[in-house]
Amino acid sequence: MLSIPDLIRKKRDGEQLTDEEISFIIESVTTKRMQDCQIGAMLMAIWQRGMVAAEIQSLTREMMLSGEVMRWPDEWKRLMVDKHSTGGVGDKVSLVLAPALAACGCKVPMISGRGLAHTGGTLDKLESIPGFNVQQSAEQIRSILASVGCCIVGQTKMLVPADRVLYALRDATSTVDSLPLITGSIISKKGAESLSALVLDVKFGRAALYKDLDSAKQLAQLL
Ligand code: URA
Repeated sequence: MLSIPDLIRKKRDGEQLTDEEISFIIESVTTKRMQDCQIGAMLMAIWQRGMVAAEIQSLTREMMLSGEVMRWPDEWKRLMVDKHSTGGVGDKVSLVLAPALAACGCKVPMISGRGLAHTGGTLDKLESIPGFNVQQSAEQIRSILASVGCCIVGQTKMLVPADRVLYALRDATSTVDSLPLITGSIISKKGAESLSALVLDVKFGRAALYKDLDSAKQLAQLL
């Protein structure tokens, strides 16, 4: 049995976590075996020490597999598209792009996020519309896509649940601007959508998570 304090210490001391250890951590996050304080400590250790490519790949895969990976009818296979922005103030592209793509015959099963640090959250904006419900099951998403072609929903207990927990705790622990954590968060959601095409919109500048072009390029390459 792996020990959570030992794994926190390992990352804190700058060692590389194995696939098995990352899988155990994400399962512990999702099943609540890991306390919030332990998750916060692990997030800070990752923020401080970073992760190598193999760890980021493993983190992303385990986050994606923490819930349901969506399946689509055969006739939709080449139509499944989405875009994801890395976050900024006044970031509203999704709100117009999703229906525009649907009007062109595409299907857009967008899993989006709330405000992170100072950036605006698409879900928070949508929830300011009385009665708008961002919590939908995979079955409801399929039915919405069949009738209107696009949806914008949040992570749930069934859909990337690990990101749901980590996302909120990153916001509370000042561990948002971490390349491995942003990559895991964005790509796990997009992986769970089983897409045929994805556009990544990587922001930089005063209102974004990364301020300069070089760090935004690093994030874009990782994504
Ligand atoms: N958008 C996400 O979904 N996650 C991040 O970490 C940043 C932007």
